[in-house]
Amino acid sequence: MQAFPALYIDGSFCTAAGGAEGDIFNPATGEVIGRLPHAKQEDMDRALEAAQKGFDKWRKMTAHERAGIMRRAAQLIRERLDLLAEAMTREQGKPLAEARMEVMLAPEHIEWCAEEGKRAYGRVIPSRTPAVRQQTIREPVGPVAAFAPWNFPINQSIRKIAGALAAGCSIIIKGPEESPTCVVEMVRCFHDAGLPAGVLNLLFGVPAEISAYLIPSPIIRKISFTGSVSVGKHLAALAGQHMKRSTMELGGHAPVLVFDDSDIDLAAKVTAANKFRNAGQVCVAPTRFYVHDRVFDPFVSRFQEITETLKVGNGMEQGTQMGPLAASRRVGAMETFVSDAVERGARLAVGGNRIGNQGNFFAPTVLTDVPDDAMIMTEEPFGPLAPIVRFSDRDEVIQRANSLPFGLAAYVFTRSLNTANVAMEELGSGMVSLNGAPLNSPETPFGGVKDSGYGSEGGIEGLDAYLTTKFFAQTV
Ligand code: NAD
Repeated sequence: MQAFPALYIDGSFCTAAGGAEGDIFNPATGEVIGRLPHAKQEDMDRALEAAQKGFDKWRKMTAHERAGIMRRAAQLIRERLDLLAEAMTREQGKPLAEARMEVMLAPEHIEWCAEEGKRAYGRVIPSRTPAVRQQTIREPVGPVAAFAPWNFPINQSIRKIAGALAAGCSIIIKGPEESPTCVVEMVRCFHDAGLPAGVLNLLFGVPAEISAYLIPSPIIRKISFTGSVSVGKHLAALAGQHMKRSTMELGGHAPVLVFDDSDIDLAAKVTAANKFRNAGQVCVAPTRFYVHDRVFDPFVSRFQEITETLKVGNGMEQGTQMGPLAASRRVGAMETFVSDAVERGARLAVGGNRIGNQGNFFAPTVLTDVPDDAMIMTEEPFGPLAPIVRFSDRDEVIQRANSLPFGLAAYVFTRSLNTANVAMEELGSGMVSLNGAPLNSPETPFGGVKDSGYGSEGGIEGLDAYLTTKFFAQTV
């Protein structure tokens, strides 16, 4: 089996110059289903040169011209929905219906950013003397190096690509080696839409080699990374050392606060859906369930009931509600979280085990009475594990929710306006959802605080990340 031309450099799809490759696995079967080219220095040098050339051309086009090309790419993604979604499920594992929803959101990100790019307004600032005019304009920051992970291969890549392109930047994106094909096919939509060569470049390879080479390059002006806190800190330090702006969308450990006046059925349904979507491999997945003493038993019983009926299987099969974990290393990680919690006195209510001996399947799991110092209560599980614990006092639960260094998402369930306001204001996270409101739309900012990173993707903030402000002072 030979590597397919998955790198996209200077407007052409190609394999790696030196012939380096890696395997692509199907996480539902464990089989090798393809080979992926791994970019080395020669490929990265070509991508850097192309990104500079692409930037010089793209930034001079009007936002209206750019939007026209982006809209054509969005339309092609819609037309190629089946191809992209099936490639995603085959390599990443999520149920086909989830993959389809993810693909369908990509054109919306593109179209929203393309329109917003037309509104990169500057301002006129009143001066201190009549002879002076003062104004600011917004300019694209320059060629971008972006790193997208495997959990939402399309969504994580398109948020970076759409923001950069709409602002007038070129971009080199390192796609996810675990689930590359859907990203290649999405990039092909931009190619077929007539995007000028060099504006968008796609690499795969050894992640540490690519980031170590691209970030210090003087051509690159902006870094965007989505992934784990430890890698994010490493890349942010490298970016700082070379004075590059960066956006860091890192891990989380989202608390769920279920108060005693909440709609328990709604809370259980919404949090179970959010918990087990993409087998829990979601940075904003609920990961610590704090449930008020008075509604603890009914909540656990409803949540448990939903969990027990989930159909786990190959994402390609109809009716599958949860697929395998994306990589075999994640199955071992789940076993460690569960055994640590149980050893410390937690009660295993549902699941807790690997399923079968083929593929990376792990049962949807519910643990109760988990001590706050268990590994699962302090480290991001990034898998289908739901630890549910009790609380009795509002201030105490907010303090426990805020006790970790993470600060990405938080969920609150209550019918009280006062409780909702206090919890939403006091929770130390970048995003808070009340009674199940969604957190991820093209028009809303998505990002964290503390160890969960800085900067936002989506919304006007997402575009702002790719723009700089230039000030003109003119004597007239
Ligand atoms: P990992 O830390 O090995 O890798 C996480 C991501 O970073 C991967 O996409 C990987 O390709 C990339 N990466 C790793 N080292 C890199 C480097 N030196 N330069 C550039 N990119 C690099 O972890 P993993 O086992 O792949 O995933 C599990 C952990 O990753 C989870 O605990 C979770 O916190 C985190 N993660 C977070 C997100 C998110 O949406 N924020 C997505 C995927 C993974």
